[in-house]
Amino acid sequence: MEDWGIKEISNLLRENKISSLEITTHYLQQIKQKNPEINAFITVDETRTLAQAKLADERIQKGEGDIFTGIPIAQTDIFCAEDWLTSCGSKMLHNFVAPYDATVVKQFNDVGAVNLGKTNMDEFAMGSSNETSYFGAVKNPWDLTRVPGGSSGGSAAAIAARMCPGATATDTGGSIRQPASLCGLTGLKPTYGLVSRYGMIAFASSLDQAGPMAKSSEDCAMMMNVMAGYDVKDSTSIDHKKEDYTKNIDQPIDGLKIGLPKEFFAEGLDHNVAKVIESAIDQYKKLGATIVDVSLPNTNLSIPVYYVLAPAEASSNLSRYDGVRFGYRTNQYDDLMDMYCKTRQEGFGDEVKRRILIGTYVLSAGYYDAYYLKAQQIRHLISEDFKKAFQVCDVIMGPTAPSTAFKANEKIDDPVTMYLQDIFTISTNLAGLPGMSIPAGSVNELPVGLQIIGNYFSEGLMLNVAHQFQKMTDWHKAVPQGLLS
Ligand code: GLN
Repeated sequence: MEDWGIKEISNLLRENKISSLEITTHYLQQIKQKNPEINAFITVDETRTLAQAKLADERIQKGEGDIFTGIPIAQTDIFCAEDWLTSCGSKMLHNFVAPYDATVVKQFNDVGAVNLGKTNMDEFAMGSSNETSYFGAVKNPWDLTRVPGGSSGGSAAAIAARMCPGATATDTGGSIRQPASLCGLTGLKPTYGLVSRYGMIAFASSLDQAGPMAKSSEDCAMMMNVMAGYDVKDSTSIDHKKEDYTKNIDQPIDGLKIGLPKEFFAEGLDHNVAKVIESAIDQYKKLGATIVDVSLPNTNLSIPVYYVLAPAEASSNLSRYDGVRFGYRTNQYDDLMDMYCKTRQEGFGDEVKRRILIGTYVLSAGYYDAYYLKAQQIRHLISEDFKKAFQVCDVIMGPTAPSTAFKANEKIDDPVTMYLQDIFTISTNLAGLPGMSIPAGSVNELPVGLQIIGNYFSEGLMLNVAHQFQKMTDWHKAVPQGLLS
């Protein structure tokens, strides 16, 4: 079968050239063949998936199909999906079967999309390499000795290995964009509040945002049409007018002002990655864009600020895992307190425990003002930096990650180095802005992502800007060696 994207599959389904059952069966076979090595999926349930595909075909035959009906995609395991194991990559939820659908899952079900399964991820979305999952590390299809990035590394590896044409993912500090960059994919983290967080297992609620990951910008736009929208069940959901993200994707971009922040090209950036980004910017100049120098002076504070705020929110969110109502419970205990302690000690992995400890510390009396409050103040300054930059440019560009995919086990024992993976992505989460990564080249046959940051609710423009690049280049079509069958 050809290496189709979501758009092509949608056209073929509507022209009756292929059935959902056929295309779904194809991906299930790919999963069977490749997943034992890559470990991108935690749960696959062929019977349920094929039943959904059959229903989709009936819907299409009756002429009741939506543009997304019958398209198989994967869901990240951070989303509750009714009657599906929903583990969030943790032993704490290794036996948790969700009793309801997250809004995002429901949105895809409602349009008749087919769920191929639940993808692997770092435990509770904490990580940049997909090595903290209770269900084992995920391998990068471009080089099996390397990491796919994280935390949504399962979704990224699944698409890169052609086990699905698209997948959902979440981004609290970079977890859509960094794995997209390391696996040669297109990924979009929308404006905070644009996609519902209902039923998405909470890590750091003021930063968490779900978005699409696929091969191309066009495919991400189609997924955004399903995912974006106001939800009364999420108190931070924004009542933003429904948009068609595919509508302006073909618009020319001459006259576009691209801001290049000098802080994104500073120390720490691999010089070969920098070269790829520079040549991508040159392509944009050919498309008629102009370059403006901008500054985001607080960029280097984004990691310290994030590692105060995200753990603070996580320590509070994760207090619900007590072994009482759902999830893991220790086998032997003396009394209630002992049960709580042993459950949490055995159920959480090291990185999660580290965050809970830091979070509890920065929120404690006496330290709250020194750490948490200070971090909130700097968060405000980071937003102000972007506000200023967007007065003189339409989008900001730079690298997504400081390097290409690194070796497995290389950084897992050195959390601070691991945290630096998100140096260019975290500030957009702190400001609530949308950010995107698109394949822009390669270094030693490993993909490099270009980051595009937009102003609030400028996803339509960003997808358009990305699509124009993808019309001129083939990086988003590159397939890892030996994996196309
Ligand atoms: N790598 C960052 C962290 O470990 C971001 C994770 C994410 O975006 N979910 O927290």
